[in-house]
Amino acid sequence: MRIILLGAPGSGKGTVAKVLVERTGTPHISTGDMLRAALAAGTPLGARAREYMESGRLVPDNIVIGLIRNRLGQSDCLSTGYILDGFPRTVPQAEELGVVLSDLESNVQAVFNLQVSRQLLVERLSGRRICKSCGAIYHAVNMPPRTEGICDICGGELYQRVDDQPATVENRLNVYEAQTKPLIEYYRNMGLLYPVEGDKGVQAVFEMIIHTLDNIRKTACDQAQ
Ligand code: AMP
Repeated sequence: MRIILLGAPGSGKGTVAKVLVERTGTPHISTGDMLRAALAAGTPLGARAREYMESGRLVPDNIVIGLIRNRLGQSDCLSTGYILDGFPRTVPQAEELGVVLSDLESNVQAVFNLQVSRQLLVERLSGRRICKSCGAIYHAVNMPPRTEGICDICGGELYQRVDDQPATVENRLNVYEAQTKPLIEYYRNMGLLYPVEGDKGVQAVFEMIIHTLDNIRKTACDQAQ
């Protein structure tokens, strides 16, 4: 599987990526997770990214492109593929991804655009809670843990991301509109874009992705015969 999950913050990219990983074993590559890990580890890269992330702005392209180039060149991605989540987020990042993949003799099979109304995005982001230990995602109202503040899976502590607080959420959605939305047209023009109704729930989104990939493979086989 070699796919990109596109969509606004809160559209469910991370949640469906986790299901795809569980069921297919494909590596999940989230630049947001990589940057948060760098920040938590106190690396120089994390220190450079902090002010951008906390205010909801995009980290400069050269930083994230460097991370992606390294990660896609690792053996698990070369052998099994990748689920890109939160990358690319600008047209220059998409162009650079094209260069990286061509250097690795790889290509993207499909770009899934998870569509969700702005009202639902705000609701999802402001209620989102994440486990500090295993990264499981909850929602304070729609998917609460059995015990408040505690992860059902590993017993870890749940927290709210700094950038999920209301003022920053608005900022992130505006940044998405201005800088990331043009990628819809970019990938549509390449014939790679598949719209997905992101408000339908994670199982429906998962099934739509698997079904589309099956069709893409069948078409490729038919054409090869
Ligand atoms: P996410 O977890 O994908 O919502 O990302 C959280 C934050 O990390 C974003 O608001 C950005 O500040 C930064 N970030 C993640 N991915 C990228 C990217 N591809 N380009 C620039 N900044 C990014």
